[in-house]
Amino acid sequence: MNRLWVCPNCAKGVRAPGRLRKNDVRRFCYPCSQGKGVLVERVCPALERKRSVAADRAKKKAKRKREKTKAKAKMQYVVGDPPVDCMEEMKRLVRLKAFGRKFKAPRGWYVPKLEVRRRDDNYSSGVCFGSGSGRFARIVITCGRWQPPSGVKAVLLHELCHAAATSTSNGLLRMGRGEDPHGQEFKLRFAEAAAEAYGVDIAPCQFTRMEALHHEVKTRLAKSDPPPTIPPEKRKRRARSVFMTHANNHTGLLGFNAIAADPRVVEVTGEKEGGYWADLEPGYISYDGCTQLHEWTVTDMKAALDRVEKGEPE
Ligand SMILES: [Zn+2]
Ligand SMILES: [Zn+2]
Repeated sequence: MNRLWVCPNCAKGVRAPGRLRKNDVRRFCYPCSQGKGVLVERVCPALERKRSVAADRAKKKAKRKREKTKAKAKMQYVVGDPPVDCMEEMKRLVRLKAFGRKFKAPRGWYVPKLEVRRRDDNYSSGVCFGSGSGRFARIVITCGRWQPPSGVKAVLLHELCHAAATSTSNGLLRMGRGEDPHGQEFKLRFAEAAAEAYGVDIAPCQFTRMEALHHEVKTRLAKSDPPPTIPPEKRKRRARSVFMTHANNHTGLLGFNAIAADPRVVEVTGEKEGGYWADLEPGYISYDGCTQLHEWTVTDMKAALDRVEKGEPE
């Protein structure tokens, strides 16, 4: 299909295929080039339009991708059945009086770095790095996917108590020195925080072992757990994911290689923003009478290749 190529200087045009080689004489306006001393390039308005449409599409695609990543980032913190948003929960918990403004920022509140890992059972655990350093702490919790909200909340609260510890003897960092990270101070704070956040009333002195106290908090919290959305008998373990060892654009690369291997194609190149160009073997022409194909995507290029026929260029 021939298109109009217009000189931006003299506004005169010639008709030429939409896809021209970069050094095709029809790309340039001779009279203007001679007058100016440099090559004056014609532009193809139809092609420019096509380009702007493609750019538009790319922009929209990028936006969708951004939104998707954002939603995914939020889901990283959601775990349990029914699900609990650990980040939202933590944002609320750092304000507890039991933590003595350990997380108070000049404006608003600090939130320790949180990482939520998942496991395929009912077990939950947590670890707090940099205990006693408040906002600088890092909390990693590993939650069973079918853990009820009470279990998730208890672990989160437990780790926040480490993060808010005022003396380092209550921090895990000191554990190796024979000090108890779950000492008296920890137990008091944990019980106080549980009472304040969830209305669980427990006297911590009756528990000598931290595990017993933790269990008690969890059991009391469980009384207000909503029923699970997936009943236990219907729970299915997730299949192990398969990791691709190839480049991330696997299908795109395969398509590209397939085009390069086509006997009618001499060479195929991909330009960063200019789409894909394929030179055809002599004796083959594209549907619009060119010796070269130009498309914006690998899929379009494959379709264009399907329409290649034998013949001489017009
Ligand atoms: Zn001109
Ligand atoms: Zn602990």
